[in-house]
Amino acid sequence: MNAADIELILEGLGKRYIDPKTELIHRNPYELLIATILSAQCTDVRVNKVTPELFSKYIDVSGFANADQGILERDIKSTGFFRNKARMIIACSKKLISDYNGTVPDDMDKLVTLPGVGRKTASVILAAGFGIPAIAVDTHVIRLSNRIGLVKVKDPEKIEQRLKELIPQDKWIFFSMSIVLHGRQICKARKPLCADCIIVKLCNYGFKGRVPDPFKNPFAGA
Ligand code: SF4
Repeated sequence: MNAADIELILEGLGKRYIDPKTELIHRNPYELLIATILSAQCTDVRVNKVTPELFSKYIDVSGFANADQGILERDIKSTGFFRNKARMIIACSKKLISDYNGTVPDDMDKLVTLPGVGRKTASVILAAGFGIPAIAVDTHVIRLSNRIGLVKVKDPEKIEQRLKELIPQDKWIFFSMSIVLHGRQICKARKPLCADCIIVKLCNYGFKGRVPDPFKNPFAGA
């Protein structure tokens, strides 16, 4: 895949996803961090049902750091893996207070020192919380990058590195956000809707596997 193809992919995604953003409700980087921890193995829709009440109850980093684990577990139970998530949220908040003056750092190396925060979560915080170029490699990005033919590897760190080489830095956030939406809406895990896909002609999987329906996809011939 060459630079011209990448440009066309970005252009195609740009036609469908104008100013894509994370779907997690948040008012600041700390709330985004908590919401992102909760979103592991859970949908954003479900997380968004829990967080408004959660944020008004615990209010800030001190509130979460001093939370009673059992009560917090009950508050976030519907997001799944609630024991582990509650433990991470409390530990992460304590570390923010002890090491970072209670604020979320805008730095990858510092973010990954926080309990419950790996490169994916850190990239979400950088990109969606601070507007700093980053590519968060989640299950959608792994699947789509391979299907499209941008990478041929499943390891998230290698994918992140390769995508950063392929995609211009000023498009990292856009790519990261739009590809997740594309994975949720069109390029679904079990049955990708290739006939409705705006980048079908540039995609290894779609081009080989299916013929686009120009009536369903007004951009297919673009
Ligand atoms: S053409 Fe199909 S496989 Fe390729 S990105 Fe689109 S929906 Fe996914």
